[in-house]
Amino acid sequence: KPPFCLKSIDKTFFTAYNKALLFVSEVKTMSKYDPYQNMLKVLDSAAGKMGITADDYAFLRYPERTITVHVPVKMDDGHTKVFEGYRVQYSSVRGPYKGGIRYHRDTDLGEVTALAAWMSLKCAVAGIPYGGGKGGITVDPRALSMGELERLTRGYTKAIAPVIGPDMDIPAPDVNTNSQTMAWILDTFNLLSGGKSLPGVVTGKPTELGGSLGRNESTGRGVLFVMRETLKKFGKSLAGTKVAVQGAGNVGGIAAQLLYEAGCTIIAISDSTGSIYSEKGIDMNKFTAYKEASTKNKVANYEEEGIVHLPCEGVLTVPADVLVPAALENSITEEIAKDVKAKIIVEGANGPTTAEADAVLEEKGITVVPDILANSGGVIVSYFEWVQNLQNYYWSEEEVNSRLETTIVSAFETVWKCAEKYKTSLRLGAYITAVDRIVTTKKLKGSAI
Ligand code: NAD
Repeated sequence: KPPFCLKSIDKTFFTAYNKALLFVSEVKTMSKYDPYQNMLKVLDSAAGKMGITADDYAFLRYPERTITVHVPVKMDDGHTKVFEGYRVQYSSVRGPYKGGIRYHRDTDLGEVTALAAWMSLKCAVAGIPYGGGKGGITVDPRALSMGELERLTRGYTKAIAPVIGPDMDIPAPDVNTNSQTMAWILDTFNLLSGGKSLPGVVTGKPTELGGSLGRNESTGRGVLFVMRETLKKFGKSLAGTKVAVQGAGNVGGIAAQLLYEAGCTIIAISDSTGSIYSEKGIDMNKFTAYKEASTKNKVANYEEEGIVHLPCEGVLTVPADVLVPAALENSITEEIAKDVKAKIIVEGANGPTTAEADAVLEEKGITVVPDILANSGGVIVSYFEWVQNLQNYYWSEEEVNSRLETTIVSAFETVWKCAEKYKTSLRLGAYITAVDRIVTTKKLKGSAI
């Protein structure tokens, strides 16, 4: 803002002032982290290692379809507010588009596009018959009442209804959305379909509406299986391993609790309000009960004997054996990577590590288990949920968990072997596995219109 002391408009000042503003905004734009560009960098490196031509995978550098919608919502105070939302259908080469819906004030088309691309690669790594997509709305959901959130979700569903469906595009929860959000989407979609019962249009819904047992814990459980397999490769086990977890939501909170029950020591955990650290380990039963008691219970206000409060980023650089970033993308930057002490990183979040940070971590000899493998437990059990919906036959929780273990451990082994074969990082090993599967399927389909 211009200084308030200016009484009359000084043209020279304002020209200089506006130029300065323009410069600052350009610098900001230039330096803004772009997860889609980050994804493309890794994709191109993987293709280079594989020795495939640019023509072979050109289609994978772009989304097949991008939709921007504007959703008018009647707010509780009577006025109408219009929200912007997106659905990016990145790839349908291996099956219907599949991917979550995010509600966040910073969500934009670039972020959703990157997330949709990662979903396409993730489903291919997991070996499940899906393509990839993602959705999002630019909104701070904490500022909305339940009624406003329901109207927003129903309006968004109406806007994307023509392009979703059990055999076309299947949404699921992501950051700030949950089984309740999926229930609203399902109900709206069924009403718009003339009252048909189509539970397979979304996954991650409540079990009462056809959700799968074990889906809520599946991403965290998958993180545990992948961490266990990685430790095994180094002759170690979960018991006694010191773990730091960034994010205490569906992925981070549940992963931390399951790891604790499996014998790990959770030495640090965080949410958007701060981190806590304890050398002897946090009592996860107490912490989980505190978080579950109210959505207002935040890490910054948590108290337990022996814990120290740190800033948000503090969790990333504590002396842990394994670090699990499970919050948002762009958490481990080049600067933070220099201070990471863990020997293994298991990416619970999508895109938590920038390409520049990856190079630093590799140089430091830190093993990074990439997002498209490490957090695939969620989409694997989403696939199981969809299969159960299509068959109208439901499995026990033990069966779901055991099939998850078999599928994710097999994906882990494939990626590990691929990384060994190409003498590369696990991230490139995972990308090579995915690109190979998608490109092969595309070639088999031939070159139609
Ligand atoms: P969530 O909304 O349940 O939890 C997110 C957590 O991150 C919250 O505890 C929030 O407070 C915390 N957080 C936000 N900003 C933070 C910051 N700067 N520092 C520390 N903590 C911060 O979301 P979620 O479903 O757990 O998703 C987390 C990540 O995992 C996202 O990248 C998402 O795309 C990915 N993911 C989710 C699933 C799933 O099934 N939910 C599956 C695969 C991948």
